[in-house]
Amino acid sequence: MKAIRFIAAGRPPELIDVKTPTPAPGEVLVKIAGAGVCHSDIHVLDHDMGFKNAFTLGHENAGYIAALGEGATGWKEGDAVGVYGPWGCGRCHTCQTSAENYCENHARIPSFGGGLGCDGGMAQYMLVPSARLLVPLGKLDPIEAAPLMDAALTPYHAIKAALPKLTPDATVLVIGVGGLGHMALQILRAMTPARVIAGDIDAAKLDHARKLGAAHTINTRDGEAAAEAIKKIAGPRGITVAFDFVGAQATVDLCVRVLGRNSRLAVVGLAGGVVHYAANSPPYGTDVCVPYWGSRTELMEVIAMAESGHIKADIERFPLEKAVEVYQRLREGKIHGRAVLLP
Ligand code: NAD
Ligand code: ZN
Ligand code: ZN
Repeated sequence: MKAIRFIAAGRPPELIDVKTPTPAPGEVLVKIAGAGVCHSDIHVLDHDMGFKNAFTLGHENAGYIAALGEGATGWKEGDAVGVYGPWGCGRCHTCQTSAENYCENHARIPSFGGGLGCDGGMAQYMLVPSARLLVPLGKLDPIEAAPLMDAALTPYHAIKAALPKLTPDATVLVIGVGGLGHMALQILRAMTPARVIAGDIDAAKLDHARKLGAAHTINTRDGEAAAEAIKKIAGPRGITVAFDFVGAQATVDLCVRVLGRNSRLAVVGLAGGVVHYAANSPPYGTDVCVPYWGSRTELMEVIAMAESGHIKADIERFPLEKAVEVYQRLREGKIHGRAVLLP
């Protein structure tokens, strides 16, 4: 089968012929219908994140059960499934609560999950090490559901933790209206009455944000002007919750400038920005957090939101063979919503 492989940091991914795997005892083979293209892969391709071996990319996957290894139960061939992305040890206290994204033994596990250190879903088939890592998709189409595994789960996890602060009189800032950000806007609309300001450096993304219900949009290319405009909208209380889906120095700094006291900053993007602390900056009472992905039960909640029509990923579909070009388009900010590869 054909697969899009990470070769080494600093090198482009390659389309390579690999052997179609067969499931060993306990494993499950999934026929991939859709594999989402996440900006994190660009960080993985560009920077040495400690991956020593080549592997198939794709950590946002959905498809159909193709085969069950000996002893793997609970599914039958043809069932539509999503692949939960962060693979923990499965045994520690945190994994037992289904939050394998925060596995206590993560340092001893050589990969973060399929597509992040071991073979992922940018191929016709993917091996999943345990049936526990699969979630039912119900009536959802696996191609359209693939982005739920990360582009929706990650903001859902960040938003859910911030709910006590997302009161009807709160003003929320969402920076970066790409794969994660466009889902965040829909999740906020579905879950909270708070007023939303969206920021991006691309006019088309701001257009998208307005269509998804953002009350205000701000081009953040000029950080100084953007901060003034956001403060004016937010009023004396300032921004109550800021979600930074870029995480660059410029965006982190912008969030810190517009937050009010007793607020929350969630830095989700991995662009390397640093939150500097000085007295009252970020303002007193601010919770600063770095949410990572989400738990498996949260993924089930996300799937329920999609099934009930509250959220829907805007996807651009591409054949697997186009992956290298798709990564380039993502790098240039030219993907609307989420790109999904169809192996
Ligand atoms: P994306 O490329 O789809 O979207 C990024 C958006 O940010 C685009 O709309 C782009 O125009 C905008 N943008 C870029 N630079 C900007 C700037 N300086 N100011 C304002 N807007 C800017 O990316 P994505 O797949 O949504 O991922 C977003 C970030 O989240 C990436 O850094 C990714 O690695 C990270 N991520 C983190 C987690 C986690 O668990 N913490 C999970 C998935 C992705
Ligand atoms: Zn991702
Ligand atoms: Zn664990």
